[in-house]
Amino acid sequence: MSKTLSFQAEVAQLLKLVTHSLYSNPEIFLRELISNASDACDKLRFEALNDAGLYETDAELKVRVSFDKAAKTLTITDNGIGLSQQEAIDNLGTIAKSGTRDFMAKLSGDQKNDAQLIGQFGVGFYSGFIVADKITVESRRAGLPASQGVRWSSDGTGEFEVTEIERTERGTSITLHLKEDSLDYLNAWKLKGIINKYSDHISLPIMMEKEEWKEGENDQPGEMAKTGDWETVNQAAALWTRAKKDITQEQYDEFYKQISYDSQAPLATTHNRVEGATEYTQLLFIPAKAPMDMFNRDKAAGVKLYVKRVFIMDDAQALMPTYLRFVKGVVDSSDLPLNVSRELLQESRAVKAIREGCTKRVLSMIEDLAANDAEKFATFQAEFGAVLKEGLGEDFANRDRLAKLLRFTSSTTDTATVSFADYKARMKEGQDAIYYITADTLAAAKSSPQLEIFRKKGIEVLLMADRVDEWALNYLHEFDGTPLQSVAKGAVDLGKLQDEDEKKAAEEAQTQFKPMLDKLKDALKDKASDVRATTRLVDSPACLVVQDGDMSTQLARMLKQAGQ
Ligand code: ADP
Ligand code: MG
Repeated sequence: MSKTLSFQAEVAQLLKLVTHSLYSNPEIFLRELISNASDACDKLRFEALNDAGLYETDAELKVRVSFDKAAKTLTITDNGIGLSQQEAIDNLGTIAKSGTRDFMAKLSGDQKNDAQLIGQFGVGFYSGFIVADKITVESRRAGLPASQGVRWSSDGTGEFEVTEIERTERGTSITLHLKEDSLDYLNAWKLKGIINKYSDHISLPIMMEKEEWKEGENDQPGEMAKTGDWETVNQAAALWTRAKKDITQEQYDEFYKQISYDSQAPLATTHNRVEGATEYTQLLFIPAKAPMDMFNRDKAAGVKLYVKRVFIMDDAQALMPTYLRFVKGVVDSSDLPLNVSRELLQESRAVKAIREGCTKRVLSMIEDLAANDAEKFATFQAEFGAVLKEGLGEDFANRDRLAKLLRFTSSTTDTATVSFADYKARMKEGQDAIYYITADTLAAAKSSPQLEIFRKKGIEVLLMADRVDEWALNYLHEFDGTPLQSVAKGAVDLGKLQDEDEKKAAEEAQTQFKPMLDKLKDALKDKASDVRATTRLVDSPACLVVQDGDMSTQLARMLKQAGQ
């Protein structure tokens, strides 16, 4: 029984793109196929937690890579979960992965850009068509009888064929019929090189058949010949389980790229074994670039959870506070049950301890950048500075640490490099507050009439134009003992900074202009709650301020935008 089916429209489009674009890095097809084989073994291990019978008689999970020079084929075989016929149709004929769908939505039609995008996303299984003009998949799902195997094959154009086959081995075998220009992959040395580069950290053994040199007979040249023995060609230990000293930064970078689909190396890496009441390993990365949807607070978190090296779930939100959702990496715990669910995670004490530990680690990483690498810290600020501010309202325990990491533009600097500590060090004699102003844009903040008196007196004011500023600053009332004061609120009290003459002038103005102020108050009675004479303006005739303790105009606007 065999049937021909059409790819989902998006798959057809993706295939065309993958095969026709100048793929800058064709060898990644092997990384993708090995990563799928490894996922399939993870899935088997996970399902077998409840049904050990799924291992059948073959519990040693592994991946085999082999090639046949005469047939011009390369085959990747795993003894993982396998595919049923329906799964082969669904998973290899449609785009199930949301990441790939996002990717499709971003395609511009410009080949060069799009090719770069593929590199960033990794398109998984279909990348086989970069080097193959035909792919045959043979598989049997764990637990199904040998008679319910499946063969899936396609030349990567519009259709694929599915046939029922007899298959005794559990798992999946993917055979690439290589294109004429890709025959150089029929070479053990080359394949090993690629496996070492991309798949060394995969925790399964990746095996290849040993070869040895065979002298040619009758003046024929000698050649490498297969021996029938298989050897493991990767380290076969999950990267995070290895000792730090045995791991190079390149290996960390490769691992990061693989789990994040980022083409750039991470900005910072931290890898630790935490011992004590809760034991776990953390391998965490700060990316060099913010994702496009960073301000979506529901966005998937970036940390994968393993329990005793068994993969449990992607995007384990409970492992990181929301304001650190940009962090990628792995947490491997030995204290959680293997059958832990997302709901259980929310309540677990161990998870709480892990989250606190991870948060502290990430903050140390950022502090380290701030102290030792100005350039990287500037990149961090530009990409993640705004999202970090959310922490002021979310993570009270670390509020002081976070406040030290924030940087702002000010009325006297053009770059967002001013910390609260810098500001304090520059405060004027007699100044007893940290002044700031919030606005929609930096330009608006800078040209605000509210700043006039501060300029005149040479007092620095922090300019805040990130959307989160207003909200976040509601949670920060002081820094290191010095109160924060919005210059747009109430009758700004310049305290000791105001000289006696100015105070007198203000009081006199209040009496002198009383009749006019009353008239204005009357005219504006539905719109303003008070009208005052002020000394805060130098050039502008009037400005709006909010009552102390009221929502600022900025926050009011933001809430209105959000429909509240
Ligand atoms: P992803 O791995 O991100 O899900 P891929 O395009 O790499 O996307 O793979 C698509 C799907 O095909 C997988 O989710 C899986 O269901 C199935 N698949 C691919 N390779 C294998 C394999 N070796 N064993 C079992 N299923 C596989
Ligand atoms: Mg994949």
